[in-house]
Amino acid sequence: MKLPKAESFKIKMVEAIRPSTIDERLKWIKEANFNLFNLKSEQVFIDLLTDSGTGAMSDKQWSEMMLGDESYAGASYYYKLKNAIQDITGFEYFLPTHQGRAAENVLFSTIINEGDIIPGNSHFDTTKAHIEHRKSYAIDCTIDEAFDTEVNHPFKGNIDIVKLEKVLTENQVEKIPLIIVTITCNSSGGQPVSMQNMKNVSKIAKKYGIPVYYDSARFAENAYFIKKREKGYSDKSIREIVKEMFSYADGMTMSSKKDAIVNMGGFLGLRHKEVFDRASVFNILYEGFNTYGGMSGRDMNALAQGLYDGTELSYLETRINQVAFLGQMLKDKGIPVQFPFGGHAIFVDAKKFLPHLPKEEFIAQTLAVELYIEGGVRAVEIGSIMADRDPDSGLNRYPDLELMRLAIPRRTYTNDHMKYVAASIINVFERRSKITKGLIITKEAPILRHFTVELDRA
Ligand SMILES: *Cc1c(COP(=O)(O)O)cnc(C)c1O
Repeated sequence: MKLPKAESFKIKMVEAIRPSTIDERLKWIKEANFNLFNLKSEQVFIDLLTDSGTGAMSDKQWSEMMLGDESYAGASYYYKLKNAIQDITGFEYFLPTHQGRAAENVLFSTIINEGDIIPGNSHFDTTKAHIEHRKSYAIDCTIDEAFDTEVNHPFKGNIDIVKLEKVLTENQVEKIPLIIVTITCNSSGGQPVSMQNMKNVSKIAKKYGIPVYYDSARFAENAYFIKKREKGYSDKSIREIVKEMFSYADGMTMSSKKDAIVNMGGFLGLRHKEVFDRASVFNILYEGFNTYGGMSGRDMNALAQGLYDGTELSYLETRINQVAFLGQMLKDKGIPVQFPFGGHAIFVDAKKFLPHLPKEEFIAQTLAVELYIEGGVRAVEIGSIMADRDPDSGLNRYPDLELMRLAIPRRTYTNDHMKYVAASIINVFERRSKITKGLIITKEAPILRHFTVELDRA
């Protein structure tokens, strides 16, 4: 008998979670105004709201916490993290920041000016917000296959080189301070970018003299997909692949809450001293002195160890297999999900799940509310509530895809939890024709409304 795969860790500490009743959940979701961000975490049984900062640290990371040196300047943690970043990514210069968006803020303050154009693959929302806040423009050059959940493509995060070259030829090169490649591409469903695509982007960027930066939150998951899916990489180690990936970039922004498996933290990795010197000024202004930048020493130690934990093949195999385990259970029951499965989450296609609901009634949010009522599972809407209103017309924007994202925290839940989640979704799927009413907004903020929106039944 072929031995099955099993998790690459055993559990040393646990946190109790409590199931609730349907009656309790009906009351709580109403009190939360049908916004899952307003629920107390104790009202949630399995929390798949995000994989950001929600992972379980290893015993090695916890022991690093105890070794934290809390000196203001020049502490040992700084050198430990600097060495780890250089070892894993190859970038000689680095600046610590309190999280990923802070790294974006520091980098963009250094190189973006008003009116600039920044091409990329489905820029993440904080990235886009930091670009638009500077009155600049994020141009999406993702391949078309990413926007059809049924098309099977191994690298749905890829940049369409023809679209990219069009942006580069139709605009003044001085107006394009960087190209951003997001690995994996969160907004298109945790989809990877191929090594070949990274090479092609680098080549064209060099031709036009434009730097390339990677938004690297899930760089290790991206490397895993390259190893599994791209010709010529199956015998390479994850760390060799990671090194090669970053060799095609001028720098990186990192949300360490993802693939470095810490609860808080970020950094900027840089190849050029000249950019580092200029960025340092903003880092000191916004984050803190260059050797700590908004993090405590113990957290930086845990982050350094997390970079090694997160690039272990056995860990990545466990993680990505668990996400696929959930995805496959849903797919087998005919539930429409983004395919191939992403690295960090399963994305349910809500328009196909509830085809009879009008888009004005926020289909993905309705589905997420029904899933919570069914099983106490918290997912998140990636759809028209998150898309906000058009700033000019004030009308709701309805993106092509209405998705419900089930993000899996790292090393946190077992496969029995995944079975529970799948059963909850399957139950909702079986009663989907009875879900005849969606939701309407009763109160909303002008931007990033999904965090605080209030809703009621339509
Ligand atoms: C989470 C994330 C960010 C922002 O990082 P924070 O740590 O949440 O500030 C940026 N880009 C991508 C792709 C992300 O997933």
